Amino acid sequence: MLATPSFFRGVASLLYPPSCTICSASVNSGEYLCGECEAEVSRIVPPFCAKCSEPFDGAITTIFACANCAHRVLHFDAAVSAYRSRGIVRHVILNFKYGRQIHLRHLVARWLHSALDDERLRGRRFDVVVPVPLHATRLRERGFNQANLLAELLSAQTSIPSKPLLDRIRYTTTQTALDRSERMENLHNAFRLRKNADVRGLRVLLIDDVLTTGSTLSECARVLKRAGALSVHAATAARA
Ligand SMILES: [Zn+2]
Ligand SMILES: [Zn+2]
Repeated sequence: MLATPSFFRGVASLLYPPSCTICSASVNSGEYLCGECEAEVSRIVPPFCAKCSEPFDGAITTIFACANCAHRVLHFDAAVSAYRSRGIVRHVILNFKYGRQIHLRHLVARWLHSALDDERLRGRRFDVVVPVPLHATRLRERGFNQANLLAELLSAQTSIPSKPLLDRIRYTTTQTALDRSERMENLHNAFRLRKNADVRGLRVLLIDDVLTTGSTLSECARVLKRAGALSVHAATAARA
């Protein structure tokens, strides 16, 4: 018998019955969360900002810039996130990124993939999936670029090629403690197109794990558009 990867997965699931990533309750094969934990995952539902997916409370009938988008230029056409980065979602993404639990990429990629169902992305054609790059120093520390892993999984599911076309050339301190304008300043000229990369005329889908203020995605989109990309939409697994 030929030992295929699915054969090994099959053997592994016999040895280790599938269990919930959060609470260890048993789950069906192929599932990461039990029903109870799944119910706590918060999906972003309308109304939300068309540009950056910031959810609003209450009914919004007219289109207007949300507080996050007001008084600044965001260079992506739209940034779509399907889930709030809270509770279980936040916990899983932190463990994936900083806790070396790289297997969690499959669950995070599933959340990312569901962003493609959004009407701003659904039915749209993309020529290339581009992950937000990490600086080489950060990449050495972490051992992997989470956006790259997610972009590769998404590429396998959608057949859109994933290409790391951007480099991060400025080592920026963590953005966490910075406000919106400080983040934008901190990121200025942090990215550049890779040598020999050609994005002219391409419809790009930019990928990251989490959108916080959108500054990183915007800065990447600016570089891609300046280099001739036709459009740059962004998708992330979650939104802060
Ligand atoms: Zn559970
Ligand atoms: Zn917005």
